This record gives sequence, structure tokens and C-alpha cells, in this order.
Amino acid sequence: VNWPEGAASAVCLTFDFDVDEVWRAEIPDAANRPNLLSQGMYGLRALPLVLDRLRARGLPATFFVPGRVAERFPDEVRAIAAEGHELAHHGYTHRNPAGLSPEEEREELSRGLDALGGLGLEIKGYRAPAWDTTASTSRLLDEFGFLYASNDMADIVPYRHEDGGVIELPAHWILDDAAHFWFSQQSFSRKISTNGEVAEIWLAEARGIARLGGVCVHTFHPQVIGRPGRLELLDRILDFVAGQEGVWVAKGIEIVEWAGPRL
Ligand SMILES: [Zn+2]
Repeated sequence: VNWPEGAASAVCLTFDFDVDEVWRAEIPDAANRPNLLSQGMYGLRALPLVLDRLRARGLPATFFVPGRVAERFPDEVRAIAAEGHELAHHGYTHRNPAGLSPEEEREELSRGLDALGGLGLEIKGYRAPAWDTTASTSRLLDEFGFLYASNDMADIVPYRHEDGGVIELPAHWILDDAAHFWFSQQSFSRKISTNGEVAEIWLAEARGIARLGGVCVHTFHPQVIGRPGRLELLDRILDFVAGQEGVWVAKGIEIVEWAGPRL
């Protein structure tokens, strides 16, 4: 891709604003387990901390939001939009599409669009809960008028799906805070990483993508990266992004609208 303004590569900062919908979707009796849900509810506390940091550096971002979060916390979602960031679709519930029937997947898309559209937001991007798309997803998105998805990992520049559906803005687990920091009290099977380990992994990937002329899609979760100690890591990454020469930092929709006609 020839990026605009002579840039050699691009960066897209994305945040999945799940609040507690991950736990509600994945653990059947979660509604009766306030301690489980409270891990996600911290996302509400963290959101202004994240928004402050983006605003301080003049960095744009894309926030993927489940429809139920938009219905339950409209003021927070409006606050994101008021900062000029892009809002995009992240399911209605946070149920993994790979576990849904085609009818259920369609209903998730439809209800999520209604919820976000109800706040007056125009939605063109989609990220599947857990990134776990189905064989129908790309075509369904095209049918619903989406321009892009940000789930798959087959390249480091945007690409068109072969089925004639939407454009992919590729992501990767390497650049996802959940992959490094997610802790499950169900299993206690995961060590919680240090900021230093994760910074080393993220900065190497970011530099590598920049050298190859790709788009570095960071995926953060306010409830994960917004923990008090991890805000230092977020600051470090945002400072790196803001300080890079020859890099175009843009919202998902801007990147796809630029790259799409050139693919
Ligand atoms: Zn999510």
C-alpha cells in the first residue's frame, strides 16, 4: 500500500470496550457472580484514563463496542464519540460467533447495529467477539453495509476477502493486551506478564510492521490496559506511536477508505 502523505507505514489504535459482556457471554451463571463481572466493570473506571491519554497526544482511535454496552452505558459510548474517535461493532452480546447458528450471527449483527445506531452513530467496521469469525461473516457484513472487519491475520496490510465481502484490517494476538495479561480465576493457568515483557514484544512487532510498510493494529481493552500499573505501558506505546517518523496514525475507517480503492 502507498500510504497517504508519503508515509511508509500506518498505525491503527483499537480498543475493545467490552465492560463485563465477555463474562456474561462465556460463563452461564455470570449474572449472579458480581465478582466475575467486576473485572469488566473496571473498564468504565478505566475509559476516561484511556481517553485522556489519547487526547493528550492528539491520537485517533477506533473503539469496538458490543451493542449491549451501548444500551447499558450510552453516556460512556457518547463520550468516546465526542472525542472524535470511531465507534465500531463488536457483537450485540459478546457471544463467540463460531458458536452461533447463521441466524443467530445475523441477529447479533442486526441488534448491535440498532443499538449503536440508536446513539446516532454511523457504523462501518466490525470486530467479532474473540475475533472468531465464521464462513458467513464477511458476506453478512457486506450485506449489512459494513466496509471492513478487523479480525483475521493473513497479512499486515488491508486485503479483500475472496468471497467478495468486506475488506480486512488485519489484527494479531501478538498485539492484543488480552493475550498477554488475561488472567482466569477458573483455571489459574496463566501468569500475569510484566509491562517490560509485553513492551518488548509489542515494540518489536510495531517496528517490524513499519519496516515492511504495513499497518500496525494494536488491540487494547480498557479493563486490561487501564489497570493503574499498565497505564505506564500504554503511555510508552502511545509515545512511541506519536513519535514515529513517516507513520500515518488513523482510525480503522480512514485506513480502509484509503487502502480499499488501491487494492
Ligand atoms: Zn471483546
